[in-house]
Amino acid sequence: MALTTATAVINLAALKYNLAQIKALSPTAKVLAVLKANAYGHGLERIAQALFSEQSEDTKNGDSSVKADAIAVARIDEALALRSSGITQPIVLLEGFFNAKDLAILAVNNLQTVIHNQQQLNAILSANIPSPLKVWLKVDTGMHRLGINPKQFSYFYQQLNASQNVQKDIVLMSHLGCADDKNNESTAAQISLFDSVTKDCKEERTLANSAGICAWPTSHYEWIRPGLLLYGISPLPFEKSEKNTQFDVQPVMTLKSSLIAVRELAAGESVGYGNAWQSKETTIIGVVAIGYGDGYPRHAKNGTPVLVNGRRVPLIGRVSMDMITVDLGNNAQEQVGDVVTLWGEQLSVAEIAQCATTIPYELLCNITRRVQITLSA
Ligand SMILES: *Cc1c(COP(=O)(O)O)cnc(C)c1O
Repeated sequence: MALTTATAVINLAALKYNLAQIKALSPTAKVLAVLKANAYGHGLERIAQALFSEQSEDTKNGDSSVKADAIAVARIDEALALRSSGITQPIVLLEGFFNAKDLAILAVNNLQTVIHNQQQLNAILSANIPSPLKVWLKVDTGMHRLGINPKQFSYFYQQLNASQNVQKDIVLMSHLGCADDKNNESTAAQISLFDSVTKDCKEERTLANSAGICAWPTSHYEWIRPGLLLYGISPLPFEKSEKNTQFDVQPVMTLKSSLIAVRELAAGESVGYGNAWQSKETTIIGVVAIGYGDGYPRHAKNGTPVLVNGRRVPLIGRVSMDMITVDLGNNAQEQVGDVVTLWGEQLSVAEIAQCATTIPYELLCNITRRVQITLSA
């Protein structure tokens, strides 16, 4: 007996394919690949290496010479982990530094920083660092989360530009709040505000996340910032009927486990905590070795699709920490050890997210440490 426990199978050829598709959508823009939160649960170092590698192990899917131009992360620890693993390419901290004393670490490790507030400006102007830093100046164009007020733009830009601690090629940046809604007028307003704030500067600019890349071509500028799309998931709302055919990307992660028990239930018998599900008739149920302790969402509702040997069956009963149960039906032939797919190839994580009233981002990030990450064969 040799059963597989929860495993996230990572397909690097799909990653390369998606990068090529993204570049095709925006042929002239450079790619700032977003790898925060352990590369959305995919494994930080391996994804970074693949994005810059000449060769992927399996090139049948795409052009392996396609490369990203820089990496973005959210925390300095993520950036330092990349440097430790030998990544020498540019790395940008999307929220900048959190402590003035980190500026020296940024300089020594050649990390680039976003500047989005007065405290960060003061700190960088007065820092004593061995070499100037490359800075991405973030302007708030309407999302009202991070970024300086557009009225402060000239002041910030001049101060940074005049500082010996700052490299001359400042990148101008903002972030879209509603780009996944093609009908939302605030995106056009953000784009035009960004245009007007930056129009007198010759600097490079960046505005688009995955949804901007897909839905708002005028948001692309000189740098695009794909996250979700790189991992092969559409950033636009999941609609079953469309099957996400808008963009040809392939899921990079397939989350798998196996059946560890198969049993027959008589009509009226229940399964799992709280007896939350009861069989209406005689049926065969399967127990799968995955649960919320692995990052499978506890709020996935009854009927959430699960693939057993590729066959779509419904989740039944409550999700527990280490297990879920599925209804295999009364003619089931499946056996202990059979392969179960929770999302990925053949089953979009976006559909599972919808069944759990969340978004694919959260499901991917929530993959826990006990899930083995392996490369697809
Ligand atoms: C996370 C993030 C992105 C990537 O967003 P996706 O929707 O995953 O493409 C881009 N820009 C910023 C500032 C981010 O924080």
